[in-house]
Amino acid sequence: MSGRAARHVPRKRFGQNFLVDDGIIAGIVEAVRPQRGDAVVEIGPGLGALTTPLLDRLDRLHVVEIDRDLIARLRERHPPARLLIHEGDVLEFDFAAVGEGLRVVGNLPYNISTPLLFRLAAFAGRIRDIHVMLQKEVVERMVAAPGDTEFSRLSVMLQYRFDMEKLFDVPPECFDPAPKVDSAVVRLMPFAVLPHPARDEAMLGEVVARAFGQRRKTLRNTLKGMVTAEQFAQLGIDAGARAQALSVADFVRIADAVAAPA
Ligand code: SAM
Repeated sequence: MSGRAARHVPRKRFGQNFLVDDGIIAGIVEAVRPQRGDAVVEIGPGLGALTTPLLDRLDRLHVVEIDRDLIARLRERHPPARLLIHEGDVLEFDFAAVGEGLRVVGNLPYNISTPLLFRLAAFAGRIRDIHVMLQKEVVERMVAAPGDTEFSRLSVMLQYRFDMEKLFDVPPECFDPAPKVDSAVVRLMPFAVLPHPARDEAMLGEVVARAFGQRRKTLRNTLKGMVTAEQFAQLGIDAGARAQALSVADFVRIADAVAAPA
């Protein structure tokens, strides 16, 4: 028996938990509603649980996969004119090279979910929508509102750029091997016009990272040396509050106040 005909041994380091539940697979494809000419990029096709039903509805599909054994299997199963395989680390993948109006889909490797979401955010201008499976706890942080215990740096930085909706939960037994955590599918749609554009997005990122870096401390402490008492007063933001209490718009106002003049 050739190596590839044998069962693939899942690699933990690549976050390999393969979807095996037909209802969930159909639910994800249904949520995406792919149309033949769409420019779809699947992250981590793995053994093809989503790849095959997506390709059934598309002219062609781009996939980004790091595991060479899985790539070899995909090559055997699908013609190169229809399945365009990008071999390598998705954290280094240039989504801009694929085109515009991209639709991103994936049952993501959970060990890289946060950096991957930040990378996708950097390409938001090229992206039409994103449908991804993640750890449920991460999805809850993404969609949390100010004041919620889950409201975090990830919530602010993604809500700055995307309209997000949790679609449905997925229990561990829908995967093989079963992950130790619950999962959920989430949809992200980049705003055509940002609701609260920051003058300097790097500054916004810095303010938010510092404010949530020590989330139990007050803004007066976490933003010391960056925002003065007068600036807090001018902005009408309570310096004794914690990061969790602020809205995305508040963070943008702070970043705008401390950004160098344009
Ligand atoms: N889509 C398949 C499914 O639903 O059954 C597999 C999902 S599995 C959770 C994650 C996939 O991402 C695996 O195929 C894994 O090899 C791939 N992967 C992990 N890290 C990656 C990376 N840094 N870049 C690209 N692909 C990666």
